[in-house]
Amino acid sequence: MDIDFASAVVYSLPMRNRFRGITVRNGMLVRGPAGWGEFCPFEDYPDAECVPWLDCAVEPTEQSWPTPVRDRIPINCTVPVVSPERAVEIVRASGCSTAKVKVADPGTSLVDDCERVAAVREAIGRDGAVRVDANAAWDVDTAIRAIRELDRAAAGLEYVEQPCPELADLAAVRKRVEVPIAADESIRRAEDPLRVAVAGAADIAVLKVAPLGGVARALEVAQACGLPCVVSSALETSVGLAAGLALAGALPELDFACGLGTLSLLTADVVADSPRPRQGWLPVPTTSPAPDPELLAAATADGEINDYWQDRLRRVAALRKAQRS
Ligand SMILES: [Mg+2]
Repeated sequence: MDIDFASAVVYSLPMRNRFRGITVRNGMLVRGPAGWGEFCPFEDYPDAECVPWLDCAVEPTEQSWPTPVRDRIPINCTVPVVSPERAVEIVRASGCSTAKVKVADPGTSLVDDCERVAAVREAIGRDGAVRVDANAAWDVDTAIRAIRELDRAAAGLEYVEQPCPELADLAAVRKRVEVPIAADESIRRAEDPLRVAVAGAADIAVLKVAPLGGVARALEVAQACGLPCVVSSALETSVGLAAGLALAGALPELDFACGLGTLSLLTADVVADSPRPRQGWLPVPTTSPAPDPELLAAATADGEINDYWQDRLRRVAALRKAQRS
């Protein structure tokens, strides 16, 4: 079925803090006979990379998601580069029993990272889980040294996310440290999780539903790669986050808290009564939520932003159609 371009709305929502280099999240909501979907590839992505994002947006407009096997998902809180005192506040306020701590940020030190990680462990308690995300910042030797120190500071890390950029480097680090390795940036396309598994580069795969082409496709990818999976968001509104929750709800096994509690990074949402994590849990939706007309009107972008996204959607839709024919 063709996309109903007339119903496609461009939204623009300021973020509470700079994240992934952006201060405003822009994207589109599309509507079809079965409901709403969200199309929001980051603006530095070329058109060809956006085709699976459009598949993911179209999926809930045409069909229902796979049947879930659980009705709620454990969520991690995220601790950015902040003081140890602030880190404690973030963890306590979240109610989550898993915290993901950002480490290896440019211009920061391993000593500071260790102090923050230790504070997070103190706040979350012995039964909680502390993971770190290096966003591919280290080379192999730096990663091995840093992971060992952070593991000590945390009194045991759950895992380290993407310590190095390259698969071969992840595999080399994995052989030399006890802490499990999760691949995130290495997984951008549906083929990638299999490559990660074959290369012995990670113990865990971080899956984002949009770049993998939707819930059904991501579920196939998860099963094909055979690694335990963590589902993470791409900073969507509640419409797009519902797809991530649907995937987490349908995975046969879910051993880890998911990075889907990211709605709070946006200053507003397009859905009324959007689900907020309660004591670190989010419910699994059965359908994607419909935007509230007033909230959607308040978030709607016009002018250049609207033109850019409408044009982008048309280009990516044309590319998708050509690939399918
Ligand atoms: Mg990550």
